[in-house]
Amino acid sequence: MAKKASAAAKPALAKTAPKKAKYVYFFGAEQSEGNGSMKLLLGGKGANLADMASIGLPVPPGFTITTEACAKYYEIGEKALHTLIEKEIEAALAKLEKATGKTFGAGENPLLVSVRSGAAVSMPGMMDTVLNLGLNPATVAAMIKRTNNPRFVWDSYRRFMQMFGSVVMGVDHHHFEYELSHLKKAVGVKLDNELSVEHLQELVERYEHVVEHSTGKKFPDCARAQLRAGINAVFGSWNNPRAHKYREMYDIRGLLGTAVNVQAMVFGNSGSNSATGVAFTRDPSTGDNRYFYGEYLINAQGEDVVAGIRTPQQITVLGSREWAKSQGFSEQTRRTNFPALEEAMPKVFKQLDTIRRTLEKHYRDMQDIEFTIEDGKLYMLQTRNGKRTAAAAVRIATDLVKEKLIDEKTAVLRVDPLSLDQLLHPVFVKSAEAKAQRLTVGLPASPGAATGRIVFTAHDAEKKAKQNESVILVRLETSPEDIAGMVAAKGILTARGGMTSHAAVVARGMGKCCVSGAGDVLIDYQKKTMTVGKEVLKEGDWLSLNGSIGAVYKGEINTIMPKLTGPFAQIMELSDKYRKLRVRTNADTPHDAAVAVNFGAEGIGLCRTEHMFFDADRILSFRRLILVAETVKRLQDEVALAATDGDKARLEDELKQPLAQYNQALAELLPLQRKDFEGIFKALKGRPCTIRFLDPPLHEFLPGKDNPTGQGEMAKALGVDVKTIQRIVDDLHEFNPMLGHRGCRLGITYPEVTAMQARAVAEAAVKVNGAKAEIMIPLVGDVKELALQKAIVLDIIAAVEREKNVKLDIAIGTMIEVPRAAITADDIAKEADFFSFGTNDLTQMACGFSRDDAGKFLKDYVAKGIYDYDPFQVIDANGVGRLLKHAVELGRGAKPGIKLGICGEHGGDPKSIALCHTLGLTYVSCSPYRVPIARLAAAQAALKASK
Ligand code: ADP
Ligand code: MG
Ligand code: MG
Repeated sequence: MAKKASAAAKPALAKTAPKKAKYVYFFGAEQSEGNGSMKLLLGGKGANLADMASIGLPVPPGFTITTEACAKYYEIGEKALHTLIEKEIEAALAKLEKATGKTFGAGENPLLVSVRSGAAVSMPGMMDTVLNLGLNPATVAAMIKRTNNPRFVWDSYRRFMQMFGSVVMGVDHHHFEYELSHLKKAVGVKLDNELSVEHLQELVERYEHVVEHSTGKKFPDCARAQLRAGINAVFGSWNNPRAHKYREMYDIRGLLGTAVNVQAMVFGNSGSNSATGVAFTRDPSTGDNRYFYGEYLINAQGEDVVAGIRTPQQITVLGSREWAKSQGFSEQTRRTNFPALEEAMPKVFKQLDTIRRTLEKHYRDMQDIEFTIEDGKLYMLQTRNGKRTAAAAVRIATDLVKEKLIDEKTAVLRVDPLSLDQLLHPVFVKSAEAKAQRLTVGLPASPGAATGRIVFTAHDAEKKAKQNESVILVRLETSPEDIAGMVAAKGILTARGGMTSHAAVVARGMGKCCVSGAGDVLIDYQKKTMTVGKEVLKEGDWLSLNGSIGAVYKGEINTIMPKLTGPFAQIMELSDKYRKLRVRTNADTPHDAAVAVNFGAEGIGLCRTEHMFFDADRILSFRRLILVAETVKRLQDEVALAATDGDKARLEDELKQPLAQYNQALAELLPLQRKDFEGIFKALKGRPCTIRFLDPPLHEFLPGKDNPTGQGEMAKALGVDVKTIQRIVDDLHEFNPMLGHRGCRLGITYPEVTAMQARAVAEAAVKVNGAKAEIMIPLVGDVKELALQKAIVLDIIAAVEREKNVKLDIAIGTMIEVPRAAITADDIAKEADFFSFGTNDLTQMACGFSRDDAGKFLKDYVAKGIYDYDPFQVIDANGVGRLLKHAVELGRGAKPGIKLGICGEHGGDPKSIALCHTLGLTYVSCSPYRVPIARLAAAQAALKASK
């Protein structure tokens, strides 16, 4: 068959000449070969540069080498790749020379280019850009002659050497910085832009030495050699550890590689009528649309704005005034020293402001843009959908609906469900914050409240966080190496850098509280201190940050929950409108139930009763029960088997005392448990509540071998010898407790416990009007287990109905968490009103991974791609997912109306929720704080499935 098909295909192929792969795409006014929809091939940056040029925006021309070329770079190697793309690059260069009227690497009017990375998904700061490429002694001379601006040319040259030296040639950037700061000190200037031409020349000379010294090679003069090396460096950076870490953290997969953008340089460093800047079309922290949010620097280039070298200035007067206020500058100082772009270059500002609107209309989303002004002429260098906090995401999505730029469904798809977590977390108690000692105010880089102990390195942040300490990471400035520490910290404080600094951008992405650019904070990394005015704080001292206003406080400040109204509520409403799955919560207490209901839970999908036994006032009763439970069972068996009446009488006598204690313990537990259920039913106000009967092995309720103090206390409280306790602990020891005497197996051995729990549920249901109880039998593997437990429950319900003269409607179902249950789900469905998939245990047993031990090696499994994700976090779709599918089909086949839910950790994970939607489950159940996430994720699953 296969042979035939390929033979038939051949002539068709022969007719159209085999399509040659195209690796280079030109962009520029009216000449763009690519467009905005080609992100996978051209990367986000390249696609949008082509796109912006096509809609008439001022973009310096250039060309994009595709991500396919990057994949080839890794497949066939550097040499073969360049042979493959050489001609296309030469053609594109020729076109670029024509478009700009300049010559690359030669002539009176030399063409300089930037070499920029750019994958399909933006990875800020993860890969490296080289500017001013094409400079060498000859082009430097030509450019000086042409511009009559030697300062600018030498400034560009030293920048180029530093970037090319570190990014492409691998020289440690500290060496360059050392030379620069050394020179500045020697000649007595503070800022880079105060260096004279002679200084810059000297710097270039020193840089040449640095490069030769570190690499043993001369800095390359040939522009084409520079370009080729630059392209290779960008391709190489796709696999640097920072890029890997970033992709891992943001779950970016399935990309070919990065594209390379080679673009004609425009110069923001050519004088006081030039500038460079970055901006957001709306406030990325709050989503506010009052003014144009951005920063710029006059006579600067590239990353100067975000690198915190000088204090960046605001784009608008309004923004500038707010900034000045936060910094304590007078209007006078602000206007003279830090004027807004709107004031300094009003014409350019107007043009940029118009472009802001054009871009939002075109992309129908908030944009993050980069621009440069050369001699009063504006150029756009980048646009992309801006990263934003969750607060900004919901605000922008709902605003864009109002502005008719997007529809409701798009709005729902615009918000990352997991990011909602940021909105559900605490803010400072207002009064406590007012009383706190405010040390200083920096920039409100990423909102929220954080309180913790000071650490000065990312490494310490990670270490302390592992010991469950809350820490605040305090740095001069952060860099991509600090990411793991930033994840670990509760909040981040930096002394340098603006709203678009690395710390600010990354923290916002993580939804982490961050105050940046707190210039009053002096940090001594050696002594591990931070000084603000007279206050000296040491490592380990408490510090609090309010990222919404930029405030920094000494000490610890109490926090409370925020209100869930406004845009957040609107997105939730829209989610409810479009989702098919219902969302319940896992909650064991009235408080958790109330919190979850407040978050929109439609009931409880998992109420774990054993958690109730751990309370101080009842653990004793339960322990008393455990103490005699085995004896009671043994004696009862012996009584039944007694050979003679005498034996029987003796055994019955022996049984009396332990049995009394057993029944006494159950009698003590009944009212307590009933009260728990009453409380929960009340909090649920008529919403359903699935109550799981006793599940963990009994030893978990006793102080173990490693806790002799606890054993002593228990012995004393129960009035027995400590040996008795030790004996019971030994008796209950199991080699594999997770596969041991637990779940319904306990109820099979101790039906009285099942009966007690059933009675507590039934009596509570009688007491609370409208209570909707559902009883769930755990760990069933065979339908007979369920049938036996169900019989006990039904008996009790009937008894309570008789006693109270009421009719009760209590559903009885089971968890499907043993693989055997999943594959015999048709049998089980006959006895069950509902299934709830316990995907934690199901994963454990289906994959054979112990939940408690697999952590050690699962990371390797994920890294090696054996599993796409940790199967305890995201349902293993190919394995466990198939079991679920099978069970759903069998269950529905046997009982069409059966209710199906899921209650593992996976119930709050968006990818798993999408799978549940596909499987057609009735509901997912997750922890209270995950409920809003699940509501949104369920809506997104429904919308994506219907597309
Ligand atoms: P990143 O992906 O890290 O943002 P970019 O490739 O966008 O890196 O480059 C960083 C900065 O370099 C840009 O914001 C811009 O200011 C500057 N830059 C890049 N290309 C050019 C160019 N052709 N002319 C002038 N500046 C440029
Ligand atoms: Mg960069
Ligand atoms: Mg950029």
